[in-house]
Amino acid sequence: MFEELLRQWDGEEVVVRHDRETGTWIFVCVHSTALGPAMGGTRMKQYGSPAEALEDGLRLAGGMTRKLAIAGLPCGGGKAVLAVPEPLDGHARRALLERYGDLIQALGGTYVTGPDVNTGETDMDAIGSRTSHVFCRSAENGGSGDPSIHTALGTFHGIRAALRHVHGDDEMTGRKVLVQGTGSVGAKLTRLLLDAGAVVLVTDVDEERARATGAETVSADGALELECDVYAPCALGATLTAESIPKLRCRIVAGAANNQLATPEDGERLRAAGILYAPDFVINAGGALHGIGLEQLGWDTAELDRRVEGIGDTLTRIFEAAEAEGITTDEAAERLAAERLRAAGTTMQLH
Ligand code: NAD
Repeated sequence: MFEELLRQWDGEEVVVRHDRETGTWIFVCVHSTALGPAMGGTRMKQYGSPAEALEDGLRLAGGMTRKLAIAGLPCGGGKAVLAVPEPLDGHARRALLERYGDLIQALGGTYVTGPDVNTGETDMDAIGSRTSHVFCRSAENGGSGDPSIHTALGTFHGIRAALRHVHGDDEMTGRKVLVQGTGSVGAKLTRLLLDAGAVVLVTDVDEERARATGAETVSADGALELECDVYAPCALGATLTAESIPKLRCRIVAGAANNQLATPEDGERLRAAGILYAPDFVINAGGALHGIGLEQLGWDTAELDRRVEGIGDTLTRIFEAAEAEGITTDEAAERLAAERLRAAGTTMQLH
């Protein structure tokens, strides 16, 4: 399994370690260093098998190369997966992260990590006790902290760009937005939308979380079938499928969740249904801009805000290219990423 996955992969290198103390498989996947050191978060998760974890890491690392190339950053893409046999906390978790920090340090800056699914500030502090090649540590430890406000802000600018493209203006007053998932990003996005005058419907499987936003709550079942201007997926991936797309009653899909399209064909389904889709790996880059910009590239907050606002301009360019060429917005975004990588003298497989 490992051999086949690695043979088919178009990335540069994978470092594999089995952590005997916890039984964790560690995969550090360096997809591309063509534009600079490979950057991307560390995911901690239980998988069905080590090969499944490796496959996830390989796919996610390629996604980071695209995301960071489109965001115009001088960095390549990577991702690390810690495939734990059971949820870890306390001393065992910290000790694993310290050993993992030593591994990152040994890579000498080829790969720089940050938070991802099931890892956060405290975990970055543990890794950061062994290496400087980490971002989004806590402020007390010299880091830039939780990046979710900038993910939300970038998504907000992306929604405005989509409204401009469809309606000719980005006036929010009276526009109806459905936010699915009111966790770190969704709750902050809801606040930005409400402050801008939008009518916001929120749904979360954790109803208390949805209620705490102060917006109108709707049941998770059937939420996607509600009539609205914008559907903003901010929970799980793969909500856009052959089954769900025909039921959507929105004009725009623009949200922060990763991997929203279940398959590439779903991009075409959205286009055929006349729904404008803001590619997830473009609109949700605000968190990456936060960690990498503030900590690795020496930006101040004004520069960060300018770059996050730029996500809207990048999307406008993608929407226009897709329309001009009669392709999906997802394909247009892939082409833009490939263009930037080609300019740096490298190529990558288009999906
Ligand atoms: P989170 O875990 O804080 O919040 C996710 C929320 O979605 C939770 O409140 C959860 O209860 C809810 N949820 C789960 N399943 C649901 C369902 N079926 N229907 C409705 N709600 C459901 O996560 P987050 O950090 O806010 O990230 C949200 C999404 O954005 C994820 O897909 C993440 O990968 C992506 N993302 C986050 C960041 C970031 O800065 N945090 C950056 C880029 C992308």
